[in-house]
Amino acid sequence: MSDQHPQGHGHGGTAHPHGAPLSDVQLRVKALESLLTEKGLVDPAALDELIETYESRVGPRNGARVVARAWVDPEFKRRLLADATEAIAGMGYIGRQGEDMVVLENTPRVHNLVVCTLCSCYPWPVLGLPPVWYKSAPYRSRAVIDPRGVLREFGLELPEEVEVRVWDSTAELRYLVLPERPPGTEGMSEEELAALITRDAMIGTAKVQPPARARREARG
Ligand code: FE
Repeated sequence: MSDQHPQGHGHGGTAHPHGAPLSDVQLRVKALESLLTEKGLVDPAALDELIETYESRVGPRNGARVVARAWVDPEFKRRLLADATEAIAGMGYIGRQGEDMVVLENTPRVHNLVVCTLCSCYPWPVLGLPPVWYKSAPYRSRAVIDPRGVLREFGLELPEEVEVRVWDSTAELRYLVLPERPPGTEGMSEEELAALITRDAMIGTAKVQPPARARREARG
């Protein structure tokens, strides 16, 4: 967690800058967390670990399976682009914050980037919880004003001829980017492909890397 509290224990996922008033729900969550910690019923580190798991591992795996299927099954891809909510529900990924999904296809000419300028709207059933940076004010404003600059900071330099399209999520519409299938993946199974697909590639702040490079990055 990047937002460490001065007392030293992280408050997982709270994007509120210190000094801003907390919402009713945030207050209730904090009260509950401190009570459970005080009673020795939860360990704050374990709570952070749990949130981290849903933020970056479990959640985005669903989206990765959707993307991998679209890469190998043209009929599924057609349905996904025509009615994402329906196609995604057909894979069993349904629930709150996923009622009205739109899938945006990246091509060699068009790169899509998703933001929520107002708050943190995000497609929970396919991506889990939004990362802290997605909820941050600088990302929310700069993704609209200077998307290429933001992408550069994520390590993604796009050629001038590639058009960047920025999509503003709302309570009504949630976007998922269908990234380009990287070269060198021709013989891979759907499951192997899904393992290559990262959360950031489905938000649009990254591309899916070819297998050799993905393996190198995983090794660090
Ligand atoms: Fe929002």
